[in-house]
Amino acid sequence: MGTPLFDLTGKVAIVTGGNGGIGLGMARGLADAGAAIAVVGRNEQKSVAAVAELKQRGGTAVAIATDVTDSKAVADMVARVKAELGRIDILVNNAGINIRKPPHELDIGEWDSVIATNLTSAFLCSQAVHPAMKEAGGGKIINIGSMMSIFGASFTPAYAASKGGIVQFTRSCACAWAADNIQINAILPGWIDTDLTRRGRSEITGLHERVLARTPAARWGDIDDLSGIAVFLASPASDFITGTAIPVDGGYSIMG
Ligand code: NDP
Repeated sequence: MGTPLFDLTGKVAIVTGGNGGIGLGMARGLADAGAAIAVVGRNEQKSVAAVAELKQRGGTAVAIATDVTDSKAVADMVARVKAELGRIDILVNNAGINIRKPPHELDIGEWDSVIATNLTSAFLCSQAVHPAMKEAGGGKIINIGSMMSIFGASFTPAYAASKGGIVQFTRSCACAWAADNIQINAILPGWIDTDLTRRGRSEITGLHERVLARTPAARWGDIDDLSGIAVFLASPASDFITGTAIPVDGGYSIMG
């Protein structure tokens, strides 16, 4: 028998923003496939609850309080994961925020904070795990883009810039680190029901109905809709796939 394609037993995964929403959905999938999970986020209460949930499912998990916009904190987090879980095989760059304002109303502080959280954090975390992955003989990095990696919207100038940037950053890392047997891919989630989009629905009139009308699957996504793609992109099943951006959107991006 060959190596099981989707088995992550013995692997260690860092999931930024793994304490809720899409990050937790992906952490569940990775844990169920056998990976030990480092749940990284600022809100310790949420992280402790997520770790308890992952353990309840039979997984191994630790919570590491980190602000991923802080390069020193990221370096400390990566050192702790190596010390506590022994290795690093998988990094999911999922932490993200949105500030919904048109370009003429967004101030520079708001712009900087969205770019730092959604884009610069992926650079900091990827660079910080690279030596450990190289040492392990390979690795998998999964970056979270958005429909705003493809489309624009009047209320998301910084968010769309960060999510477009994530796709190009993914391609560059894929070229740079192929020789180290590290595959880097992006996931572009459609409209998923989380705290982030619940706030969006309350701020943008008609958003809920517009999403339903445009999504062929005729529903919002659930966080568990992201579990399978996370396992696929973290496992040997995707070893010849790198630098791509895969929509997980119920068909939103192909609807004419
Ligand atoms: P949530 O608000 O539920 O989750 C965001 C996560 O990011 C939280 O776990 C939060 O943890 C973490 N986070 C935010 N800032 C930081 C920081 N500075 N340091 C560490 N962690 C941070 O939103 P979603 O689950 O919806 O979003 C997750 C990702 O998916 C984001 O990148 C988002 O842009 C993307 N996405 C979401 C879509 C959707 O429809 N929901 C669609 C497309 C993309 P804490 O507060 O503890 O720090």
